[in-house]
Amino acid sequence: YPPERIRNFSIIAHVDHGKSTLADRLLELTGTIKRGHGQPQYLDKLQVERERGITVKAQTATMFYRNELNGPGTSEAHNPSSFLLNLIDTPGHVDFSYEVSRSLAACQGALLVVDAAQGVQAQTVANFYLAFESELTIIPVINKIDQPTADPDRVKAQLKSMFDLDPSEALLTSAKTGQGLEHVLPAVIERIPPPRGIINSSLRMLLLDSYYDEYKGVICHVAVVDGTLRKGDKISSAATGQAYEIVDVGIMHPELTPTGVLLTGQVGYVVTGMRSTKEARIGDTLYHNKSIVEPLPGFKPAKHMVFSGLYPADGSDFEVLNHAIERLTCNDASVSVTKETSTALGLGFRCGFLGLLHMDVFHQRLEQEYGAHVISTVPTVPYIFEYSDGRYVGSVITLCSERRGQQLEYSFIDSQRAFMKYRLPLREIVVDFYNELKSLTSGYASFDYEDSEYQQADMVKLDILLNGQPVDAMATIVHNLKAQRVGRELVEKLKKFIDRQMFEITIQAAIGSKVIARETISAMRKNVLAKCYGGDVTRKRKLLEKQKEGKKRMKRVGSVDIPQEAFHQLLRVS
Ligand code: GDP
Ligand code: MG
Repeated sequence: YPPERIRNFSIIAHVDHGKSTLADRLLELTGTIKRGHGQPQYLDKLQVERERGITVKAQTATMFYRNELNGPGTSEAHNPSSFLLNLIDTPGHVDFSYEVSRSLAACQGALLVVDAAQGVQAQTVANFYLAFESELTIIPVINKIDQPTADPDRVKAQLKSMFDLDPSEALLTSAKTGQGLEHVLPAVIERIPPPRGIINSSLRMLLLDSYYDEYKGVICHVAVVDGTLRKGDKISSAATGQAYEIVDVGIMHPELTPTGVLLTGQVGYVVTGMRSTKEARIGDTLYHNKSIVEPLPGFKPAKHMVFSGLYPADGSDFEVLNHAIERLTCNDASVSVTKETSTALGLGFRCGFLGLLHMDVFHQRLEQEYGAHVISTVPTVPYIFEYSDGRYVGSVITLCSERRGQQLEYSFIDSQRAFMKYRLPLREIVVDFYNELKSLTSGYASFDYEDSEYQQADMVKLDILLNGQPVDAMATIVHNLKAQRVGRELVEKLKKFIDRQMFEITIQAAIGSKVIARETISAMRKNVLAKCYGGDVTRKRKLLEKQKEGKKRMKRVGSVDIPQEAFHQLLRVS
């Protein structure tokens, strides 16, 4: 396939507007996957994605599509009406915008999906600007037109006023009933330009993503920008200078399908004999040995908003956790990891995440995909900044000033959109600021931030003591004016989540030597066998096994067992 007959595009949308469903329909339409009624979405491969109904990882699939208007030819690859289309599904949630911009680097166009009833939402705006800044051709798709409350004309007017998109260019679809879907791929072919690479130039390819496969080893997703890549080629990494040989190369159709070659403009996979996914640097440029090339622009590094310690729930599982984190960070390069030790929890890691949902998902993936049981500590923050836009200007200003924000800029982009810039302590936005902002503005405000320099502030260290012993992993830094309230809430929360034990437990919050809040949990002997009236030995054993399993998730501090849930609940207090 020459570049003129290749199209690389992505689907972007606010969460739940129907990206993944539309992607599945397109895969079915081109015969890439079989029609599966009520099947889970094909591109949402991770268990956590299916459970939560969200897309976390961008996935790529190659489809072959014959534009019937141009008549049949002999072989597909030489048929002028046959096209190779690479579809890249993207996550919608703000926490995963890092994945979105990564996918867009390999695309020339994007389908901007908008729910016909809900209209333009915050992530529609955020994703539109990501695509716009990457200079992609944008095709508006108004989806879910089958809904009784659908109002495509209103959505068209919004697309015009917000993004200056021509309403006559909007496609009307229902990914559910199939209505209008036949116009989508012809529009992709006609409106989105082919990849712009140079066929006869030296090879340059962009490393988009990588993961570890038990049988094949490290698998890299790549976009060939210039030149041609063949099996057996010797390549080098611009980032590390390391040389590799291409052991296998092919496309995702949608499973790995060897082709022996990838041409200019194609997106596919390579297996290079890399030993660890650490070698596969996302955003790296790979080129043929001995050729001299200018590296491609990489990706913006991820912005970490939430930092939290991750510790094995059972001290001896450190190696398991180490291995799991190593594997998972290859697949999610947006997490930063450094080793850390805690007197209470032992050896562990300090990880930086893009947001709380991202942290939760990472945690869940560690358990589900790698069987690592983890305890995470209260998230902490380094530094701040933020923007916001929305129509609910008054309540946003109130929110920001309650959170000790300082307004830097305030302007109107048009009659419907305001732009505000604040300097805010990161401490104040990390836990629930985003949710609060969303609910105050009926979901319309979108939010982004940049680092600012450190500011002087009146902060105190708030310690949590169990039976007089400080628990370092629970210590937190808070503003002096809020210390009293936070301390009270923390001890009350802990009281709820720590089970009674065989002795009395006192929980205290203290600043230095000054105790500011205190609760006690009275002693109780917990006997799991109490309900087995003698007799049945196997049932007893089962219960004891179950108790042991439950204990795994506990962390012993001094002599007190603290369930994972208690650590988790501390996140919700700030
Ligand atoms: P994503 O978050 O943008 O990937 O959205 P999904 O594809 O997961 O879809 C969100 C929900 O909307 C799912 O329950 C879909 O079944 C539903 N949905 C998707 N497209 C349509 C449509 O055209 N009409 C209706 N009525 N529902 C749809
Ligand atoms: Mg999805």
